[in-house]
Amino acid sequence: MYDMMSRRMLRRWSPLIGILVLCAFLLWQSGSPSQVQESRRDDWIPVRLSKDQEEYVDRRGVHVVVGHYMGDTSSDKHPPNLTDALLNTNMFDPKPGEGKDGSPVLIPPHLSTRMQQLYHINRFNLMASDRIPLNRTLPDVRKKRCRTKQIDITGLPKTSVIIVFHNEAWSTLLRTVHSVINRSPSALLQEIILVDDASTRKFLGADLDNYVSRLSVPTKVLRTGKREGLVRARLLGARSAQGQILTFLDAHCECTVGWLESLVVRVAADRKRVVCPVIDIISDDTFAYVRSFELHWGAFNWELHFRWYTLDAAELKKRRQDMTQPFSTPAMAGGLFAMDKNFFFELGAYDERMEVWGGENLELSFRVWQCGGSVEIAPCSHVGHLFRKSSPYSFPGGVSEVLYGNLARVALVWMDEWKEFYFKFSPEAQRMRDRQAIRSRLELRKQLHCHSFHWYLGNIWPQHFFPTDSRFFGKIKHKIRGECIEKPTGKGSLNQPMGPAVLTRCQDPPVLRQMFVMNLVGFNPENDKGAAIMTDESVCLDVPMKEDTSRILRVKVIACSGQSRQSWSYNSESGALKHLSSGLCLDVPEDAENGLTLNACNTYPSQQWVMESVPWK
Ligand code: UDP
Ligand code: MN
Repeated sequence: MYDMMSRRMLRRWSPLIGILVLCAFLLWQSGSPSQVQESRRDDWIPVRLSKDQEEYVDRRGVHVVVGHYMGDTSSDKHPPNLTDALLNTNMFDPKPGEGKDGSPVLIPPHLSTRMQQLYHINRFNLMASDRIPLNRTLPDVRKKRCRTKQIDITGLPKTSVIIVFHNEAWSTLLRTVHSVINRSPSALLQEIILVDDASTRKFLGADLDNYVSRLSVPTKVLRTGKREGLVRARLLGARSAQGQILTFLDAHCECTVGWLESLVVRVAADRKRVVCPVIDIISDDTFAYVRSFELHWGAFNWELHFRWYTLDAAELKKRRQDMTQPFSTPAMAGGLFAMDKNFFFELGAYDERMEVWGGENLELSFRVWQCGGSVEIAPCSHVGHLFRKSSPYSFPGGVSEVLYGNLARVALVWMDEWKEFYFKFSPEAQRMRDRQAIRSRLELRKQLHCHSFHWYLGNIWPQHFFPTDSRFFGKIKHKIRGECIEKPTGKGSLNQPMGPAVLTRCQDPPVLRQMFVMNLVGFNPENDKGAAIMTDESVCLDVPMKEDTSRILRVKVIACSGQSRQSWSYNSESGALKHLSSGLCLDVPEDAENGLTLNACNTYPSQQWVMESVPWK
């Protein structure tokens, strides 16, 4: 998330960044290398999930290393001595005005060593969090039109807010609770249900029970007894909920004004809607509240990792007509949403065989869409979530087993022939495939008369970049050089790959980074409508046109936008790949290592391409 957001933050939050930079500078001046300074590094490199099971991919699609943080290797291998006494101490120590209006907390330099030590406990700046009062103020980050839009809450149903947690810090957990109480109309709040998923921290026991018993909104703490994972913990909460609507939150959120009304009003108007807020960012270093983007939707990549993608031109046009209108999203991030309680259970609640963390957000998204509901984002509802770079807790059973077991279940139950595509290219998931008992979930799908995954892709996410029977899927090979086009490894905004399209040695067995997808319409030279050449992560072959036409036209891989400059057609006879808006052809220049170019179409071998199909299921 950090990586994904950093550029946007620079653009939109330059004043905030300025403060952070100043703070880093001051701390640096003081001679003590600080976390603030460390963590502003832009070179944190995403890693692939590896066999040592120390790494995973979080639900925003950011690869994180379990047990590691901030790309700093020295202290990761030798974590500071965290004694039981330290772990079990509640160090909440609020300073009036600290973190006010969502402002960043600046830790005095002499506390920097301690701050770094405490960081390891929850993988966020615990010292900063513990200095912020539970009822800190936050800015109203909504669009102006959201602020002036009156929502009539009379007669709206009440909601139970369900917050599951495992070893959460006192300050983050209770700031979540207080932000709900302080910034929700009490007429809409039935209760708050905290579900303790077998936390071991002492202060989350009787102290917590006592504390919540004094709150102005009925609040209870349920305990799973043994570690169940977030799915079964949420189920425990949902089953005991009294409200007509269930609203789920992570245990480290802060709700802003108006957040709940905008969710509840949508669910009340259509009980089959699952409604998500815009998820803003609480900085894991400073606890600054940072407003997030509204012009993206949630989906997933070929490895079934959740991603935010930019909306294409047509979708943007729809959105711009009224930016306050909720818009549908192919998938949800998972932690924060509101849903009718009866609909939740009618639809099969959650897959109880999912462990610890991961996959349940896609499972619910597919199930809701395929079985007659909808998933949407309400742009007038903003909730901050604390994003971390790594996970602080254990994954009983192994990170890889847990994650790929959960994802294998998603694929097996909901994805029809696309499950074969997933397993073919995900050996980690393939390994977990036969261990999954899924009969009852398949029965559920049958009982509910759910649509196929083909229907989902075509109707809910027509912009998707997955292979289909009416698409080419495979390598794009240069006839003479025998090399294949490859997706660049560089990341643009939102972590989407971006950079020049380059040629590399064709891989066999095929690898995803050399796979492209193109609608078959583009294969017909008579029909010059063209088609996008897409690949994983919703990126397309694109040619940014320069004003100065004498310059070389480099072919880039950029977020798919649906614009005509991403339109190509292929002539299988001549092997030409024609860029339609310029009428030029894909070419390999002498300096091939700098990427592909466009040139006037000719019949030279340098412009001859072979589209080599690869079976995907
Ligand atoms: N959680 C839980 N049991 C688990 C794992 C997670 O109760 O075994 C809770 C966790 O405390 C948090 C929520 O589930 O409130 C989502 O987990 P997390 O915040 O780690 O996920 P992320 O936001 O990083 O995707
Ligand atoms: Mn979370």
